Amino acid sequence: MKKAFILLVLLLCGCTKDIIETKIEVTDNYVISINYPVTNIKKIDKQITDFIDNEYKNFKKNIKDEYNVELSELNIDFEYTISNEYISVNIKSYIYDALNKKESTNNLSIDTKKEVKKQEKESIDYKLQERYINPKSKIIALTFDDGPSYYTKKILSVLNRYNIKATFFVVGNKVRDYSDTLKEVLNSNCEIGNHTYNHKLLTRMSDDEFLSQINKTQEVIKQYTGFTPKIFRPSYGILSNSLKKDLELEMTLWNIDTLDWKYKNYKTIAKRAIKGAKDMGIILMHDTYKRSLNALPIIIEELLEQDYEFVTISEYNKIKEIRKNE
Ligand code: ZN
Repeated sequence: MKKAFILLVLLLCGCTKDIIETKIEVTDNYVISINYPVTNIKKIDKQITDFIDNEYKNFKKNIKDEYNVELSELNIDFEYTISNEYISVNIKSYIYDALNKKESTNNLSIDTKKEVKKQEKESIDYKLQERYINPKSKIIALTFDDGPSYYTKKILSVLNRYNIKATFFVVGNKVRDYSDTLKEVLNSNCEIGNHTYNHKLLTRMSDDEFLSQINKTQEVIKQYTGFTPKIFRPSYGILSNSLKKDLELEMTLWNIDTLDWKYKNYKTIAKRAIKGAKDMGIILMHDTYKRSLNALPIIIEELLEQDYEFVTISEYNKIKEIRKNE
């Protein structure tokens, strides 16, 4: 039997769990059974079953025309390979011709790469709203590293309560689980920065490994939020000069360290931020501790009292540029 090969490429929306389940349906004169891995993602599941439903009639007709047989049974099952961006589905059918007691198999495939490209183009492109900040005002930036985490939303609600913008340097491998949190971060007009994919020490890495840390994080943030970060902070704040030359994002460190990973008392953390505060200050905190959350209102109230304007890192960089050219 001649084999037609068809490959179906679907957009990956998340990870799947492979459980084999058989769906059996009896039509006018034969049994159709579809064996397929059940995904917990309704969209993919629907795309595959729709595809099979659509193809089924054609498939049946082709076989009838070509081999002049009466089908009594047609089983379709498929397997898929998951890559970072696509699921490649390979559909296999088993035909049983009861009249001639003959069994045969067929492979189906379709190329939907063009469609995938179209979807990429249509994906949302999230941009932060621009706002006016007097470059002469006393500015300071709050930055939170190593999230998103359970505390990020709580930190965001404190920021929103005072209508303050901050920057979150996120770790790529946490993005998917907290994608809703990150969308809220963006809706509050706070900025998201790249803080590597899994927070490894970068100094002993090859150029390729380093670029993969950056690019994987850029991609996952874009995929789940629509936003493309412009800024980067290396894990542990260390980056060798040789790797720095590969970097296309703007690198940002800090000049006020709360050491909130070390000090367990929220008042100590608040005191360190307030004591270090200065015009063009960048405060380093982590949105992964309750004590950092508790220190935040104290820091904000005191610095507002001292007439500080809170800016995101991109705003900070613009103001720095303006001041340099004056
Ligand atoms: Zn970090």
